[in-house]
Amino acid sequence: MNAPIATPDIEKLLREIEARADDMTALAQDLIRFPTVNPPGEAYRPCAEFVGHRLARRGMRIEYVRAEGAPGDNDTYPRINVIARHEGSGSGPCVHFNGHLDVVQTGAGWTVDPFGGVVKDGKVYGRGACDMKGGIAAAIVAVEALIDSGIALPGAIEISGTVDEESGGYGGVAYLAERGWFSKPRVDHVIIPEPLNVDRVCIGHRGVWWAEIETLGRIAHGSMPFLGDSAIRHMTAVLEKFESDLYPALASRHSDMPVVPDGAKQSTMNINSVHGGETEDYEGLPAPCVADSCRIIIDRRFLIEEALDSVKGEVKALLDGIAAERPNFRYNMRELFSVAPTMADRDGPVASATAKAVKQILGREAQIVCSPGTYDQKHVDRIGRLKDCIAYGPGVLDLAHQPDEWVGIADMVDSAKVMALSTLDLLTRG
Ligand SMILES: [Zn+2]
Repeated sequence: MNAPIATPDIEKLLREIEARADDMTALAQDLIRFPTVNPPGEAYRPCAEFVGHRLARRGMRIEYVRAEGAPGDNDTYPRINVIARHEGSGSGPCVHFNGHLDVVQTGAGWTVDPFGGVVKDGKVYGRGACDMKGGIAAAIVAVEALIDSGIALPGAIEISGTVDEESGGYGGVAYLAERGWFSKPRVDHVIIPEPLNVDRVCIGHRGVWWAEIETLGRIAHGSMPFLGDSAIRHMTAVLEKFESDLYPALASRHSDMPVVPDGAKQSTMNINSVHGGETEDYEGLPAPCVADSCRIIIDRRFLIEEALDSVKGEVKALLDGIAAERPNFRYNMRELFSVAPTMADRDGPVASATAKAVKQILGREAQIVCSPGTYDQKHVDRIGRLKDCIAYGPGVLDLAHQPDEWVGIADMVDSAKVMALSTLDLLTRG
């Protein structure tokens, strides 16, 4: 601990959080052991109920909200969210911690059981350790310690465990936000413990545009391809144009948003998939055919300085340019998904309280950043119309979605202290 912290009560609270390091570690392990893989949305109910049962023991009021009719919701994979609330002793504001319970698929390359909750060398390993069950464990222990401390809490504290963040948040935060769970007067400040590093306060994220592009051809015998028209060769022309024109243009654009890592300060685009010709699930010998369809899915991340319409228009103009030059080039473009960039005020209450707490606990200035990818802040902002929302949590950004993902136990403890201090600060601001 570096800077002096105000009162004996607060010193005691921080020592108490330190004393709960083992509890926090065990909680992170327990959360990791629920294989809440999305898609399809495994184990959502037991994981939500585990969080609900734990917080009910602290006297918090627990509500479960199933996102009926949300994408993927059915009786096999119900979209279950949990919200816990501790009422304040006065008329202060409400601080809400929101964490997503879902994790992405494990993928290859693991050296530990992804759902074992392995602890090694001061780290908890497992799918979701970093993104973001370690952050949820830190928030839960911070709030429990605050409630147990006996310090007057004039405003309410809420914790929600929500689902489907990894697939857009429609069965989670978006669903709840549409029903008033993320709006005033119920909630005033939101902290999302996503993995942005323990000394960074994340005030927003870039925008996203996903689209499918299909090139069209004509089927013919593969021994006489000149009698057909290959959709795959047409797609090659698209990919070449991306390389020669689009990627250099994107790389030349830089944002004033404090996006990390540095590579994400420019516009970027990932080609998420390419499919053409024989389907991939077919395992026999292929029949010789000219592909009459080739599809790619693009994942374009854009800056707050760019408009969504110009992002779309740029790709469309490129495709129309190819059509003007290349015989028989035909394409379809279908938008799949878009999210506008969002950015909270870096001097707003939640960002400034958290940055101040980072300085107090870690003894260094918090870095104010924006995330390269989106997270549920978009729904809090756009649907809940609540601007005072940040991401702050213990995980290391670069480890998200990787094999052998981990969260540092010391980072969880430090971030829990920061969350407790910033909550106290926000609740007592009047
Ligand atoms: Zn996440």
